[in-house]
Amino acid sequence: MPPVSSPSPRAADDRCPGALRAHQAADGLLVRVRIPGGRLTTAQLGRLAQVSRRDGTGLLELTSRGNVQLRGIADAAGVDRVATALAEAGLLPSVTHERVRNIVASPLSGLDGGGDADVRPLVAAVDAALCAAGDLAQLSGRFLIALDDGRGDVTALGADLCWTAGTGALLLAGRDVGLRARIDEVADVVVAAARAFLGHRGDRRDIWRVADLPEAAPAIVAALGGAGADPVDPPRGGPTPVGPHPGDLVVAAAPLGRLSAAQADTVAALADGTVVVTPWRSVVVGGPPASTTPRLAGAGLVVDPASPWIGVTACTGRPGCGSALADVHADAAEALAAAGPPPAGALPLHWAGCDRCCGRPAGPAALLVADGSGYRVESPRGEHDGPLSERVAHARKAT
Ligand code: SF4
Repeated sequence: MPPVSSPSPRAADDRCPGALRAHQAADGLLVRVRIPGGRLTTAQLGRLAQVSRRDGTGLLELTSRGNVQLRGIADAAGVDRVATALAEAGLLPSVTHERVRNIVASPLSGLDGGGDADVRPLVAAVDAALCAAGDLAQLSGRFLIALDDGRGDVTALGADLCWTAGTGALLLAGRDVGLRARIDEVADVVVAAARAFLGHRGDRRDIWRVADLPEAAPAIVAALGGAGADPVDPPRGGPTPVGPHPGDLVVAAAPLGRLSAAQADTVAALADGTVVVTPWRSVVVGGPPASTTPRLAGAGLVVDPASPWIGVTACTGRPGCGSALADVHADAAEALAAAGPPPAGALPLHWAGCDRCCGRPAGPAALLVADGSGYRVESPRGEHDGPLSERVAHARKAT
């Protein structure tokens, strides 16, 4: 029987769910499937859809790390069935390291002609090196590795370790500390840096990430033989926009990060072999945009950059989370049905069912936080956030 975790404050070990360690949510057991670089075959996507129908809610939740969650699994036998299906589909190559294969990569790398390098081979190399290092199974399930092809998109995610093509910088907790690596060195350097973090962390298993410990970054720099430059913020890009892209690609967002099994089947049927789950809860689909785009839109996916769904995220809310004070997905959907395109200059907008604000996007964002009688508005721009006011007006109508 697989282990099951329950929600808790920061504990001696992180309770991050995995494919084998299920989380007990209010609507059943939840498993998280790590997908390095977000890359899936169409057969794997089809299998995930099939499993979600059979054992879960029929929804694939796309996470902010380009992973996939299945929820609503009835019991431990269901978790076992899911794990077997994942292994058969090649989605569970390591039992010991399945929760630490947290690797994000520039989703369009090697596909659209952009970026300074194709980081797709690096994803496989780093994943293999990580899984081959027995000691690195001790990393937290939250430790994040990013491989940026030079466009700055995944650099913005503030990963614990982020290698960037072009400069060759290895960023620690999102900052440039002077470390550099050639592309052929990246896998070894990532392993050495992760190992140095673990060595410095020692027995303090409540330390999950580089930013949790101020001395961790200097310790990694010293272990890698770096000179110890003053940390600076690197250039950062934005999320991959939805819509057509060069290279016969279409990026389609799943509204509020939930891809139904039927939508997943549509993507799998349309894609010419390329499917990439992005860290922005969208999917890169290979295929001619002229024919692919309308079919994705017809399936309810968002392919219009002016859609009101763009930039809007939500936590689990009711009924999946026992702490939720509202059904945030239903409320957000009602508000968005009445909304127009995102106003110019609008911040990302995150709906949360309680003060914990799980899943809020990295960087500045406006929050709508359920308080039992409606939603409290929080914006870093304060009361003078005009674009937010327009969106909140719709939100208030929905509550
Ligand atoms: S923010 Fe949402 S998902 Fe997180 S505990 Fe609150 S209601 Fe649950």
